[in-house]
Amino acid sequence: MSRLATRVIHEGYKPEPLAGCVSPPIYLSTTYAQESVGEHKGFEYARSNNPNREILEKNISALENAVGSCAFSTGMAAISTLVLSLEKGSHIIVSSNVYGGTYRVFTKVFQNHGLEFSFVSTKELETIQSSLRPNTRLIFVETPTNPLMEITDIQAIAHFAHENGIQLCVDNTFMTPIFQRPLELGADFVIHSATKYLGGHSDVLGGLICLKNKEDYETLKFLQKSVGNVLAPFDSWLILRGIRTLDVRMQAHERNANKVVNFLDGHCGVEKIYYPGVENHPNREVGLRQSSGYGGMISFELKNPDRLDQFLKRLEIFTLAESLGAVESLVCIPALMTHASVPAEERVKLGIKDTLIRLSIGIEDPKDLIEDLDKALKE
Ligand SMILES: *Cc1c(COP(=O)(O)O)cnc(C)c1O
Repeated sequence: MSRLATRVIHEGYKPEPLAGCVSPPIYLSTTYAQESVGEHKGFEYARSNNPNREILEKNISALENAVGSCAFSTGMAAISTLVLSLEKGSHIIVSSNVYGGTYRVFTKVFQNHGLEFSFVSTKELETIQSSLRPNTRLIFVETPTNPLMEITDIQAIAHFAHENGIQLCVDNTFMTPIFQRPLELGADFVIHSATKYLGGHSDVLGGLICLKNKEDYETLKFLQKSVGNVLAPFDSWLILRGIRTLDVRMQAHERNANKVVNFLDGHCGVEKIYYPGVENHPNREVGLRQSSGYGGMISFELKNPDRLDQFLKRLEIFTLAESLGAVESLVCIPALMTHASVPAEERVKLGIKDTLIRLSIGIEDPKDLIEDLDKALKE
């Protein structure tokens, strides 16, 4: 197969026969003509299948090395549908500082439907081992985690999971297949909030599940069609268009993030930096082994927390907003925004302080980003 920078552009679609459109047409039809009953071109009704969704699913499968993928209306819809594939009474081990919405749907929705969850640090295998129950069916990790950038050893956990008849799911939203391909490291499922880097322009919601084996793919396809939380044709088209530039964007996000980290690292107003690429990152070695990049997300703490408001007010290029992974730089306070659904005492335990700042580094000129931060950090 060709290399990633080529695959992002060419996989999943060849110019169609009618007019040779180089960009796929948007297929809005909800139903498809049949020659005779049951005789058709693979499409019957748009909830089951749609050409734009199929192109996107084939494209991401080629990037993540999956046998197949399913596209959903949001990242949360993708995660929820995966959990629906588990039997009642199943137990799931989850990385303790997962995305706030993931924490919320697990604790506030699925716990009421007879599923059990343990939120533990997945940094060390021992913690996972000691959380194991006879009914454990799935380990769900984010690596690096959001917002503390903790790194989990995918290969080691996949090995442990399979030895115990359990499956492993990795939320790969932060790294994207450009920097990390969990299925190649032994994971069974990869989740994406395509709303972030894959879409890349803050203008479309979407979620993906990429599967390593055929049986799981059939199960997820069945659930996707049955539950009906599918990705719309135009949204599929937009995400595919975003993925075309994923490789160049990820390289640019990371280049900029490295420069910003270097700037913050020497700054007297900065207390601590959380970035997989910093020298003293506790799991740096694992990160280097399993990922080819550090990504574009940085968290940090101010030396003087009283300056937080002033810092946020002074920023001009960084926009105060939730979400991440698009061309423009964003700043957020996870404890009060993306992770507000995690109870305060849980946040304290996890180390997500109310003054922790998270930056999503965009692809603007890095000099402008650094000047903006420098101005905001001034005494
Ligand atoms: C945003 C996000 C999600 C949820 O995705 P939506 O598209 O907003 O539903 C899940 N995981 C991670 C890591 C995210 O950043």
